[in-house]
Amino acid sequence: MKSLYSKFVIITASIMLLSSVLAFLGSNLYYQQKLKPSNDAKNTEIALDIAEFINENPHIQLSDYLENIAEVGYQIYLVDAGDTERFFGAAFRDTALKNEVKAQVLNGEIYHGMRQFPKQTFVTGFFANELTNTIGVPITHNSKSYALFLRPDIKLLFNEMHLLLAWLLALTILLSIVLVLFSTNYLVKPISSLTAATKALAAGNFHPKLQTKRNDELGELSKSFLQMAQKLEQLDDMRKEFISNISHDIQSPLSTIKGYTGLLEQDSLTSEEKVQYISVINSEINRLSILTKQLLLLASLDRNEDMMKAQRFHVGKQIENLIKTHQWAIRERDLMITYSLPDITITGDPSLLSTVWDNLLTNAMKYNKPGGTIDVSIKVAHDYLVVSFQDTGIGLSTSQQKRIFDRFYRADTARSQTVEGTGLGLSIVSTIIKLHNGEIKVDSQKGEGTLFQIKLPIS
Ligand code: ADP
Repeated sequence: MKSLYSKFVIITASIMLLSSVLAFLGSNLYYQQKLKPSNDAKNTEIALDIAEFINENPHIQLSDYLENIAEVGYQIYLVDAGDTERFFGAAFRDTALKNEVKAQVLNGEIYHGMRQFPKQTFVTGFFANELTNTIGVPITHNSKSYALFLRPDIKLLFNEMHLLLAWLLALTILLSIVLVLFSTNYLVKPISSLTAATKALAAGNFHPKLQTKRNDELGELSKSFLQMAQKLEQLDDMRKEFISNISHDIQSPLSTIKGYTGLLEQDSLTSEEKVQYISVINSEINRLSILTKQLLLLASLDRNEDMMKAQRFHVGKQIENLIKTHQWAIRERDLMITYSLPDITITGDPSLLSTVWDNLLTNAMKYNKPGGTIDVSIKVAHDYLVVSFQDTGIGLSTSQQKRIFDRFYRADTARSQTVEGTGLGLSIVSTIIKLHNGEIKVDSQKGEGTLFQIKLPIS
């Protein structure tokens, strides 16, 4: 596996290489289109000036004059009709020049060797130290015709510039390579620490060390990672608490059952005692059965959000039927129930919603006071309905209200009053309501009573 570091370095180096090639091609185009012709024109003007001066001043020593010109930075080639050649200034690397070119210039034409220099030779053609890469002008000195070819002595003119540019280029490349190596390290390091943190998290360490000071996407990622680790720790704690709660809630009825079956083995039991013990065992078995049913329901609600089998049904009728099945138990607890349930249909899962109403109604019965009342109502507003369960029971404090939807939470009063329950009912209720895109609200006064309100979209 190639490391991110080496990939980054390779990519950056390739980008640098590609851009230099493109820059070279671009500057070459510019040289061919603009610089080459203008360089040719500039040098033609100089050559013509020199020719004019020579033509107009027959008394000067031609060789001395050209020697002087060469010294200020030109390479010069002089040839006459008799093919006598003379060179001034630095030597040409290649002195080949077609005879017909010489003849043309001797005949009075101007030779534009710079402009005609082959296109293939990129921008480097500018530096080609060849006789063909010159400007040729005819001159007449003391009535004798010559052809004068000249080009600037690049070495002389550009030597310092050359060195400066070369240094600039070399230093730029070197520095960028060094800086890329460092900056890549700066970029890649947090990713490596994130990888280490991920491994630590997988091994169960919820507090991995991570730098979150960076003000960029990587800093943001580290922060999110730590938040995620914190969430996972909370989930892990919840899972542990959940398991310990279940174990406790299974263990305690089992111990009771074990104790009472032991008592049943005694021979000296009266038949009343037997009936009493068996009824205790039965109610503990019932508790276990309710607990496992609720756990199974919660597990399937957790696992799969698509378990809803939605259909249109009469919710008012459903709640009314439920009240009828509990009528007897309500009367037995010395409670009174009133209800106002208009016949309204909604879209939802009838079986899951029946669980909701059942939980709220049995809670209103369980946590009520003798002689207390329960009121159930449905109100329709716009495209939703509100189902209310109001009781005049023991009520809940504000801090208890905040926790009643937590799994296994039971308010102290409920526990102390030895009311049967698992603490799972309301968490099941709120999960089902969420599945239906609804809301559940609780409003309660300690010792006065409790109101549960459920808002459900009608379709
Ligand atoms: P349980 O199985 O204990 O009834 P729930 O999840 O249904 O579990 O309720 C959680 C706790 O909320 C109950 O133990 C009780 O303390 C409190 N509670 C629920 N409904 C009422 C109510 N109508 N009045 C007072 N307290 C209630």
